[in-house]
Amino acid sequence: MTGESQAARAGAGAGAGPGKDEGKGTIRILQLYPRDMNIYGDWGNALVLQRRVQWHGYTPELLEYNPGDDFPADVDIIVGGGGQDSGQLIIQDDLQLRAGTLTELAEDGAPMLVICGLYQLFGRFFKTRLGTVIPGIGILDVETHGTDERLIGNVKVSTPEFGEVLGYENHSGQTTLGSGVRPLGTVARGTGNNSKDGNEGARYKNVVASYLHGSLLPKNPAIADFLIRTAAERKFGTFDPGAPDDHYAVLAREHAARRPR
Ligand code: GLN
Repeated sequence: MTGESQAARAGAGAGAGPGKDEGKGTIRILQLYPRDMNIYGDWGNALVLQRRVQWHGYTPELLEYNPGDDFPADVDIIVGGGGQDSGQLIIQDDLQLRAGTLTELAEDGAPMLVICGLYQLFGRFFKTRLGTVIPGIGILDVETHGTDERLIGNVKVSTPEFGEVLGYENHSGQTTLGSGVRPLGTVARGTGNNSKDGNEGARYKNVVASYLHGSLLPKNPAIADFLIRTAAERKFGTFDPGAPDDHYAVLAREHAARRPR
């Protein structure tokens, strides 16, 4: 099934709910490699974007892209999840085929969120613990080395752009940032990018990269709204916000903040 036909299905499912048909326009959300790169609830990021796009009065279209699919045109937001090393090995060749398109979009300011395994592969490379080098697509000036240490647990990050960011990490790769990116934030609890510098995630243009699963966006709506605002401004020249219902996001944040490491 192509991304386009899945889009039709997902779009139909998005029909009910507030915000539909208010005429502000369509925002197309593409989930990269959900079959192989989607762990610890990462798919929830796409669902949060879909719902918040509706709440802001725009019409969401949710697309999926898996290896071998046609790459859909006119994508407004790209999200990609984490995956085991084995999942990264499965998608690596296809990702290289799409490197040019994804790089052009990122350089042009398209908003993107990449988590853990795809964060690593949006960087220069991931060298696994066993020494296999999985090349990345180099959108992010970062490199990742697998280690024998697994970094697992709940994380709190202080960020300059999104306030306190909450989530869950589970990775053995340790990522080092180059001068071409800035960190998403500084860990207040947990480990983040690596066990040395106290940084978590990376920021470049409108790309947000993070190790945090959970999923991330249900309890960090500020990041979701950044992606939606950026998409709307890029596509329509302006963002006309709605009134999202943050009730569950507030509860999720309270709950996540109370969790032990
Ligand atoms: N395989 C990678 C690692 O362990 C990514 C894991 C993940 O996406 N959670 O570093």
